[in-house]
Amino acid sequence: MILYSTNNRDLRIPFKDGVFNSLPVDKGLYMPVNIPVLDPEFIADLHKYNLPEIAFRVSKSILNNAIPDADLKVIIDDAINFDAPLVEISEGINVLELFHGPSLAFKDFGARFMSRVMSYFLQEGEKQLDVLVATSGDTGGAVALGFLGVPNVRVTILFPKGKVSLIQELQLTTNGQNIRAIEIDGTFDDCQALVKQAFNDPELKEKFRLTSANSINISRLIPQTFYYFNAYAQIRRMGYKEVVFSVPSGNFGNIGAGLLAWKMGLPVRAFLAATNVNDTVPIFLQTGLYQAKPSVQTWSNAMDVGDPSNWVRIMDLFGGDRSLVKKWVSAYSFNDEQTLEAIELVYKKFGYIMCPHTAIAWLALKSWMNNHQSDQIAGVFLATAHPCKFPDIFPADIASKIDIPEQVKELEGKERVSASLGNDFTGFKAYLLG
Ligand SMILES: *Cc1c(COP(=O)(O)O)cnc(C)c1O
Repeated sequence: MILYSTNNRDLRIPFKDGVFNSLPVDKGLYMPVNIPVLDPEFIADLHKYNLPEIAFRVSKSILNNAIPDADLKVIIDDAINFDAPLVEISEGINVLELFHGPSLAFKDFGARFMSRVMSYFLQEGEKQLDVLVATSGDTGGAVALGFLGVPNVRVTILFPKGKVSLIQELQLTTNGQNIRAIEIDGTFDDCQALVKQAFNDPELKEKFRLTSANSINISRLIPQTFYYFNAYAQIRRMGYKEVVFSVPSGNFGNIGAGLLAWKMGLPVRAFLAATNVNDTVPIFLQTGLYQAKPSVQTWSNAMDVGDPSNWVRIMDLFGGDRSLVKKWVSAYSFNDEQTLEAIELVYKKFGYIMCPHTAIAWLALKSWMNNHQSDQIAGVFLATAHPCKFPDIFPADIASKIDIPEQVKELEGKERVSASLGNDFTGFKAYLLG
């Protein structure tokens, strides 16, 4: 598999380099030179395959021998060892639950696959890999659990003090082994700035083999295509012919993966980009003006992004043509009040509890379905996190009904270990140098 930079189509590198570098020096994003279209027979027969089988076929095709079959199978079976079930909550409206992995968020798909691919490419005897990751909550947990116990890799997580939920903090700080956590007296932006500065520091670059684990890494995008194919397999088993996907969107990695699956031949009627009031993309699609802005804090905080990092990938998939994007992608924006109303309504009418990110995707789907009535179309909205990760959002009567998964109960007894640092680079650098 060969990659190019969205800023320079002539810059070509192999997949392995893209995995370790994350970002081209020209600040574009890596994209596959060749996006293969899957065998139509395989697509027509998708309902006969399970998730690991689909994951293997899809990744084999796009990776194009970057990893031999037998090794790829081992990576997939180890990384994608949990389910992504589709649950019907009302007529024609289905939720794709992506929170059954160890960190209870869809980021497990990307982080677990990426960690195993990185460890696969690390040659024996090579310098230890140091993964630095700044998190506002969900990414850190998925990355930590993805790399836990992986030989020759050390992970350092930076999170903003007092700004992650209790469960998220437990997921970040109770791992031990090759994972260490630092609480930064500052914001998520401070954490991200410290990581960026570390990558540009000559002394640190000399001493350590640094890499990042954020969502722009191409090896996080590929495994996220798997559940779109697998969802289609499930709607076929339910008797539907067409599907529309509604995706809670922040950095637009998740919906980008859906569009990649569509480019690979997955039949999709439409994609809905569901955002909170951080509506840079909905406004761009409407007006043609892309105006990055500072993020606004909301209850769906994993989507509080004012300048979505993966948007350039989506424009690239459509050759930069906004009107073509609009043919396939409709964008919606909802505020906190609407989010809470949706959570309450869906709980009251259907007994289903959605996390605030998921609720925004439900709202977008309802809106689209109102204008496109058909019993042939399955509406699918993606549930990106388990509601128990955001206990403070829910009214007490709903909060008390949330099932707490086993892995969360286990976390509660564990000791939290983290370093505490200010938001200045000198202190962070001294910590890294040990
Ligand atoms: C990261 C995250 C999102 C946003 O996903 P993108 O790929 O950045 O668009 C949505 N919901 C939850 C729960 C997340 O953790």
